[in-house]
Amino acid sequence: MTNFLKTLIPQDIAKGLYLTGQHFMRVFRTANRRKVPLHVVSEYPEVPAKVQPRFRGRLTLLKDEQGEIKCVCCLACEKICPTQVITIESGKKEGRKTKIPLRYDFEMERCIFCEFCVESCGFDSIILNHQFELAAYNREDFSIGMLGTSQNMFELTPVGRYSYSDSDKD
Ligand code: SF4
Ligand code: SF4
Repeated sequence: MTNFLKTLIPQDIAKGLYLTGQHFMRVFRTANRRKVPLHVVSEYPEVPAKVQPRFRGRLTLLKDEQGEIKCVCCLACEKICPTQVITIESGKKEGRKTKIPLRYDFEMERCIFCEFCVESCGFDSIILNHQFELAAYNREDFSIGMLGTSQNMFELTPVGRYSYSDSDKD
């Protein structure tokens, strides 16, 4: 009878199933104790992917609470950029004491995401956001500036919509 059972259920497979079951139960119990959801698969791209807080994505210009561009055109970021991908043209705006960029061009294709520009900015005017989907079909799509509606320094690039969620804005 024992031999018959051994033939019916090969021993090695039974051992394997037993070990898998043991491992599953251990993970299940640990997850419950720590109140960690067992569901660990990321549903990207349906749900935006979360990256680490220090992730370096695309360069973005920031505005203040009044909607004013924070950049004061000190040119520190332009000068420190090792690949020289930032070009700023400064100007004046009525009612504003500091300079304001008339142009802030960013050639993303040559950016190495070193974050030197952000570190050099003493006015917290720029960040590297959390966008990681930065691929594009045309070289022109890597040229980002202040003008335009879809490819400008304040907006997400269309290809980046899955790598960014509202909670990342904080
Ligand atoms: S991250 Fe580095 S390479 Fe990219 S724009 Fe800033 S300084 Fe230049
Ligand atoms: S370092 Fe900051 S304030 Fe100066 S030009 Fe660059 S973004 Fe503007």
